[in-house]
Amino acid sequence: MHLELGSVSLCQDSDRKVWSLSHEVNYKNRLPTRLNFSVRGMEIENISCQVCGAFVESLDHLLFDCNLAKELWIKVKIWVDMDVYRDSSSWAAWVSWFDSRQANSDSKIKLYVIVASLLWHNWRFRNSKLFGSNSMKKVFIFYSVRSFSFNWLCNRGRFKIRRVDWLMKPL
Ligand SMILES: [Zn+2]
Repeated sequence: MHLELGSVSLCQDSDRKVWSLSHEVNYKNRLPTRLNFSVRGMEIENISCQVCGAFVESLDHLLFDCNLAKELWIKVKIWVDMDVYRDSSSWAAWVSWFDSRQANSDSKIKLYVIVASLLWHNWRFRNSKLFGSNSMKKVFIFYSVRSFSFNWLCNRGRFKIRRVDWLMKPL
């Protein structure tokens, strides 16, 4: 398991973590949520969501249904001008929608990186609550999602994008 995700910060190595998270979410549903620990027989006193406290902390709840997740998805949806999120969605539903898209490969890669950034920030926020660091401020998360995905594409990938264009029309 990639338990080290909890202590990751935005550093030179962070792009690897994003893809690691995406991969984990995508294929294995192995992120160490409290529900996953509980299902595997670990004694967890409280399996409720660290962010809202109102539901069991499953992967889909945390990354799609939780208040913060919904808020971020809706902001991303408006930003990319595409219906990337529907209520009561899940990772499986999202991947199915993403795979069915006919978009050219560049915009598909960009969207994937944006979503990976969104999921990763959501996970980091959850961990900052869990470990009591409170190092992330909710109000800045969306800006960080945009900035991080931009940096990943331009510094680590083959894309040449002007920041102003990225902020206005990313896809
Ligand atoms: Zn929640």
